[in-house]
Amino acid sequence: MAAAPRPAARITAALKKHFGLRHLRPGQQPVMERVLSGQNTLAIMPTGAGKSLCYQLPALLVKGRTVVVSPLIALMKDQCDALQALGIAAVQFNSALDAPEAEAARLAVQDGSALIVMATPERLADPAFIELLSGRPTALLVVDEAHCISHWGHDFRPAFLEIGPARAKLGSPTVLALTATATDDVTRDVAQQLGIPAQGILNTGAYRANLSLRVEQVAREEDKLERVLALVHEARGSGLIYCATVKAAQQVHAALAGKDESVGLYHGKLKAAERHAAQEAFMGGEVRVMVATNAFGLGIDKPDIRFVVHYQMPAGLDAYYQEAGRAGRDGLAAACTLLFLRRDKAVQQFFLAGRYPSLADMEAVYQALKDPPPEAAGWTLPLLKERLGRPRGKLQVAVSLLRRQRVAVQDAQGFLHLARRELDGPALERLATAYRDKRDLDRDTLERMVFYAQTGQCRWEVLLQSMQDDSHPGRCGHCDNCVRLAQYRHTL
Ligand code: ADP
Ligand code: MG
Repeated sequence: MAAAPRPAARITAALKKHFGLRHLRPGQQPVMERVLSGQNTLAIMPTGAGKSLCYQLPALLVKGRTVVVSPLIALMKDQCDALQALGIAAVQFNSALDAPEAEAARLAVQDGSALIVMATPERLADPAFIELLSGRPTALLVVDEAHCISHWGHDFRPAFLEIGPARAKLGSPTVLALTATATDDVTRDVAQQLGIPAQGILNTGAYRANLSLRVEQVAREEDKLERVLALVHEARGSGLIYCATVKAAQQVHAALAGKDESVGLYHGKLKAAERHAAQEAFMGGEVRVMVATNAFGLGIDKPDIRFVVHYQMPAGLDAYYQEAGRAGRDGLAAACTLLFLRRDKAVQQFFLAGRYPSLADMEAVYQALKDPPPEAAGWTLPLLKERLGRPRGKLQVAVSLLRRQRVAVQDAQGFLHLARRELDGPALERLATAYRDKRDLDRDTLERMVFYAQTGQCRWEVLLQSMQDDSHPGRCGHCDNCVRLAQYRHTL
């Protein structure tokens, strides 16, 4: 009897046969080998490095289906379409599907024909969905953009906290977590929540030689608008302008449209259909420049973005790296420019103030859970939101905190109950303190962002240092500061 082919040989064969590719990129092979041998893995690879293939290929080789948790519907749709185009049986579950699509997806899961099942974390938290999945074995659970699970990350999504418990209900399949964010805190948190051992953390380094980093200091708001118009006018190819607020995005968009630039607008306050149309127009190349808030872009795979301009700084360098890193995914040269106005720091400080549940939020949830709601069989998150009138994200964090401390539990129908009823104010306050440390960290993160903008050091050096990445020691030689230094030396 012939021995089973080694993982490496199976990977190479599947790469050619199903994806029409000849070589793996750096970092992909070790991740796939671990996954195929059933070991939990956290792969940290830069944006554009090819994280998706790390699960798409093993999904074809493991015995059982692969469930992929993905935070954004647009991203899920792109990946699902791409897989189907390759003839790979992928289905998606999210709120954007119409009834016949959802029914077809459900049937494909039920009869086992769906090889890859993509779902939002909200869907994974739904007991009915878990029951549907439980009909057949799940071999692999993939958590894309896994930094969203960590409240230490820049893009924390409370719904991601449901993934750990859902995994247990699926019979604890092999986990593959994927992210481009690699600070120690985030890494530790992701690994701990998903049961990934230290040797399962594979980091390929974040440096990207094709991205030239620059910062332009501006003194006044009006100068910034002028600079952004000039930058877009001079630049070739498609580009992204990131703004920290919807208001700024609208202003920049109007100014560019007034100069007859081909420009689209994307932010969280637009209707879903408008956002969708804006995204399609940009992705398809009908619109050259997209002005957006950070609502745009998580996982966006447009390979030929030649420039990213930050009209306002983001909350920290992790976020900056992710957003600027959407440029040059094809490996060709691209420029990442930050327009720095000192006053913009206040915008981020304003956002920071509203992110976490206060003691009052915790108490409100705790008190509500004491008595069952009169109109329903039990408490759910939507019901809490309706009753308490507080932001869903804060309530979800509060509930998750109570669940992690076993103060609250969720029953098989998905209803929340109190397990401990004797907690007083100080005890709840102790629970909430976990988030006080996080607030201090946020402040430091913002200070690092400001430091990056004002430093005379190599920008890549500062960026990589702050991401605790030592894979590329030394100056990059092509950021604005390195170029300035070289010119200065030349004149001596
Ligand atoms: P990430 O999620 O790491 O940001 P993606 O998985 O979206 O990156 O991949 C970025 C691009 O690289 C995609 O267009 C993908 O098809 C391509 N790609 C990935 N792996 C390879 C490979 N081994 N050879 C050629 N192209 C690849
Ligand atoms: Mg990705």
